[in-house]
Amino acid sequence: MTKRIAILGSTGSIGCNALEVIEHLGPPYRVAALSGHRQADKLLAQVRRHKPAAVALSDGAIPPAVESELAGEGVQVYHGAAGLIDLVQRDDIDIVVAAIVGAAGLPAVLAAVQARKQLALANKESLVMAGSLLVAEARRAGVHILPVDSEHSAIFQAMRTGRRAEVARVVLTASGGPFRGAHRRDLANVTVADAMNHPTWRMGTKTTIDSATMFNKALEVIEACWLFDLPPEMVEVVVHPESVVHSMVEFVDGSVMAQLSPPDMRTPIQYAITYPERAAGISRRMSFDERFSLNFEAPDADTFPALRLAYEAIRAGGTMGAVLNAANEAAVTAFVAGNVGFLEISRLVELTMSLHCVQAAPSLDDLLEADRWARRTVEEQVGGRAETAGVVDGQN
Ligand code: MG
Repeated sequence: MTKRIAILGSTGSIGCNALEVIEHLGPPYRVAALSGHRQADKLLAQVRRHKPAAVALSDGAIPPAVESELAGEGVQVYHGAAGLIDLVQRDDIDIVVAAIVGAAGLPAVLAAVQARKQLALANKESLVMAGSLLVAEARRAGVHILPVDSEHSAIFQAMRTGRRAEVARVVLTASGGPFRGAHRRDLANVTVADAMNHPTWRMGTKTTIDSATMFNKALEVIEACWLFDLPPEMVEVVVHPESVVHSMVEFVDGSVMAQLSPPDMRTPIQYAITYPERAAGISRRMSFDERFSLNFEAPDADTFPALRLAYEAIRAGGTMGAVLNAANEAAVTAFVAGNVGFLEISRLVELTMSLHCVQAAPSLDDLLEADRWARRTVEEQVGGRAETAGVVDGQN
């Protein structure tokens, strides 16, 4: 039976890797639909190569030349955020790979679940923001949410070796990012380029900055709680610089099951697509011919407050996950634009969380409103600081 796949966010890092995986797998797997945000030319090149039936450009503005080329390829074109939602509901789609980064991915993810598509989820922010809704909808629709995130894929695989009631704890591994071992005072003046210099993974800007602040791991702790229905005290983080052990599950008898593979996103992407089957992999294999070692150490909570904030957010529940996520997105945007320093990212998230009145059992509208409120709060803080800095400059 043909497996027709839609990739949301196909021009991003995960999206491009997913296309490589599908091309490698060959029939019965086939690209049925693609979506990009702004990179129309890259999307067009993907259309020519993979021949999907439909595409969406979520930013809305498709250059006329590209639009006519797409029409010439016989592709149905969808526009904007609403178009993306229409696209995922198409009857000719079986599997949705949700690889849009950030809260922007949530509405389409929710629509895919409601339309009963098999969901390969890379968009961790949608679970952080709206885990309560998404998990409930998936249960109602009888849809499996299959993790693409390497850590959660590892946990998902390790979980299959025992019963859920036998799980004692889950240990998420973190590479530690480019600033592992740094002291907090060393990080005040680091640049975007420093933060983008990740030692083991090649990823897009948002996820790479999140790895440098450890907010990526913070989001993943919350993601794990929702995906595997775990209380936060059963989820731990350990720094593992080699990024070979992708995460572990400890069972009540003390056995720890780990999943190992070279750091290559194509491995978890493929498993989320082929599950419950496995197929020959595309990535490099582990080699045991030469001596190598695997290291583990506790995360530095002083230098990286993100993890503590994640546990606070999940314990607070309700709208707090959406606030943590949106405040982080807005703070990362401000850092990348050069408007705030690196350490301000976690300070802004913490401040925004402290100002938020949690709403329990939120609706989608409540979550979207909490998201907007958090972004506004960060932007006001950043704007206020820029003005203050301007006054000081003027006096000097
Ligand atoms: Mg990950």
